Amino acid sequence: MNPKKGRVFSGARPTGRQHLGNYLGAIKNYVALQDEYECVYCIVDLHALTTVEDTQNLRQNTYDMALDWLAAGIRPEETIMFVQSQVPQVTELHTILSMIAPLGKLTDLPTFKEKVRENPKNVNYGLVGYPVLMTADIVLYRSNLVPVGIDQAPHIEFARELVRTFNHRFHSTALIEPQMKNTVIPKVLGIDGVNKMGKSLNNHIELAATAEETSKRVSQMVTDPARIRRQDPGNPDVCNVFSMHKIFSSNEEVEMINVECRRAGIGCVDCKKIFAKNLNNHLAPFRSKRSELEKDPQAVWEVLHEGARRARVIADVTMAKVREDMELPL
Ligand code: SF4
Repeated sequence: MNPKKGRVFSGARPTGRQHLGNYLGAIKNYVALQDEYECVYCIVDLHALTTVEDTQNLRQNTYDMALDWLAAGIRPEETIMFVQSQVPQVTELHTILSMIAPLGKLTDLPTFKEKVRENPKNVNYGLVGYPVLMTADIVLYRSNLVPVGIDQAPHIEFARELVRTFNHRFHSTALIEPQMKNTVIPKVLGIDGVNKMGKSLNNHIELAATAEETSKRVSQMVTDPARIRRQDPGNPDVCNVFSMHKIFSSNEEVEMINVECRRAGIGCVDCKKIFAKNLNNHLAPFRSKRSELEKDPQAVWEVLHEGARRARVIADVTMAKVREDMELPL
């Protein structure tokens, strides 16, 4: 096996059963990164608390997400996959870093402003400190690369500055300045063809859905709005079904649809049937692995516990150095 190029960290909130948007936007990349990098993937339940008021589904959502990640190809024998709150050192590092984090910068970050706009009645202390906790997540595990899209770039820049401030102030080398691994995160539209795919809008296609359920969801997808009757020529360039064909269908099929749609040679019903067939074929190995894993939920939890054990070993090394360099009492 080739030596790995570095350690990648990524975290995602526990959102339960994953959908096609999660798969194309994150999971597929997570799986691919394992070939070249040492990967640390964290289910960030503490981050979820900044916006979730009712925690009753948190445990189930964590399990469902872990199950889908494993079924999609995360390899726990190599990759460290764990739950954020099961490594308490992260909250210690968060507290330490919060003492040197400039409040003005935190409240200036675009994501903070967005969250305030979305939920003005729940602007809590944790929400302001979210990027500090994110920095703690990354640096605690001595990760040097974080795969993020352009919208997350300010957070990584903030993390880098915070690390520099810490190292400078305490004459320390305890924390590694992370690099951003530029990642194209596609915006996957939901079956409404307008909004980003997500559960809240019920416009998603669940990875764990049966082949029949998936075909039904695909049949409900909105296509070129100007194509009203079967004999109207369509425009694949504005059609979400066509975007999906480009990911899941063969080059020949994509070319055929590109030509036939424009001259009304193929109808949307048949076009969607081809997509549904290809999507179901693509997801067949995922579904079969998922039903195997589902037979033993305890084994899924054990993967997370073992991941947390391995993460704590790295965290202890970092925190010992942090405490020493800050001259905290022994
Ligand atoms: S034929 Fe296919 S690509 Fe063309 S509008 Fe219908 S669903 Fe979209």
